[in-house]
Amino acid sequence: MLTWQAGLAAVLALVPIGPKRRVRLEQAAGRTLALPLMARNDSPPFDSSAVDGFGVYPADVATAAADAAVRLQLVATIRAGDSTHLRLRRGAAVKLLTGACVPPSVGGVVMKEYCREEGRAVIVSRAVEPGENIRRRGGEFRKGQAVLPAGVRITPPVVGLLATFGYANVSVHAKPVVTIAVTGDELLSARESLRSGKIRDANSHALHAAVRALGVDGCRTMRLKDRPALLRRRLADALRRSDVLLTVGGMSVGDYDYVRPVLGALGVREVFWRMAIKPGKPTYFGVCDRPRRVRGGRGGPCLVFGLPGNPVAALVCFHQLVKPALLKMTGLASGMRPTLRATLVGARRKEAGRLEWVRGVMSSRNDEVIVQATAGQDSHMLGGLARANCLIQFLPGASYLADGEVVTVEPLLWRE
Ligand code: AMP
Ligand code: MG
Repeated sequence: MLTWQAGLAAVLALVPIGPKRRVRLEQAAGRTLALPLMARNDSPPFDSSAVDGFGVYPADVATAAADAAVRLQLVATIRAGDSTHLRLRRGAAVKLLTGACVPPSVGGVVMKEYCREEGRAVIVSRAVEPGENIRRRGGEFRKGQAVLPAGVRITPPVVGLLATFGYANVSVHAKPVVTIAVTGDELLSARESLRSGKIRDANSHALHAAVRALGVDGCRTMRLKDRPALLRRRLADALRRSDVLLTVGGMSVGDYDYVRPVLGALGVREVFWRMAIKPGKPTYFGVCDRPRRVRGGRGGPCLVFGLPGNPVAALVCFHQLVKPALLKMTGLASGMRPTLRATLVGARRKEAGRLEWVRGVMSSRNDEVIVQATAGQDSHMLGGLARANCLIQFLPGASYLADGEVVTVEPLLWRE
């Protein structure tokens, strides 16, 4: 059976990166740079004072000390925002506020804390090195230099850099449009009262939240009965309107598991079905190639993920397979998730053959990361996943993990 690594590689190889879009700077946060962020000017754009203080010739205050203060003539004040053509004379000082332009003749800035103003003079009690407290023009970035490459997430500091370099509009990648179609005759809405044989639909809500947590806001959900004609009609519509279709349930080998044959009949090319993973064995992936933009539909391929109906399986498979695909579509260059090593508390067994993601809680104990499986590991037990903060990798070849063994864990981050 297909390994998770091979399945993920097959998915990522078919994932298209969203086309470029220009958005206003105010709308850019959380998206991905589609072009490198270039320095459009030197930064800082001029020599500026890092402190409130007095600009001097360093040689004039070379001997200055607490018990040997030097008196200089105060000739001007320059505030942040002022422009200046001042040429400082030897024996003189200029008062500079933080962020003020430092004239070329000023060799260093003595912090205000070491100076005392007396009328039109300033008494300096500390020497200053050449260049001290001066932020040089271009000291961080030179005009024309690449500041960040394309494919970087636009975090708050990136937004700040974009503003610094005058990007009122930013090239980002378009977000995919996602449809979540949950299937099952047993499903009720969250508002309905339970009745015999029925359960409330957890998956459409949980997956909708998982998609939105990635910043993908174009996401709609539909709840469908296990009826081939209905599935065919609604899934055909979803395939036309979405870049990604997540079907949930009906993917196994039960008598009413119609989703896979319906997708086949709708022209979805199956890339794989079933993986050597737990939870999530019946996971499916296919691609529907479409002509470019017909009758209000989307252009390019629609990726189809068929997730199992058990809520833990659906969310873990989303996390391991769908999330990397969605992040790549939004243009993110490095979607690799960090793992760390932790000491397992409590032994575990399984049959060899499948990669199992055990839901765990990691914590620290004397500078060591420890991890313990949560209670409730069955794939319908959402509580175990809700309490977990990581997934413990129980490798396919292994059948036993000993108490105290060092294992690989993956933090469960629902963002990215
Ligand atoms: P299936 O994959 O359709 O065979 O469903 C597997 C199990 O998951 C069954 O017990 C279903 O009742 C349950 N299940 C399917 N869809 C959902 C859903 N949307 N919310 C909660 N449980 C579900
Ligand atoms: Mg079902």
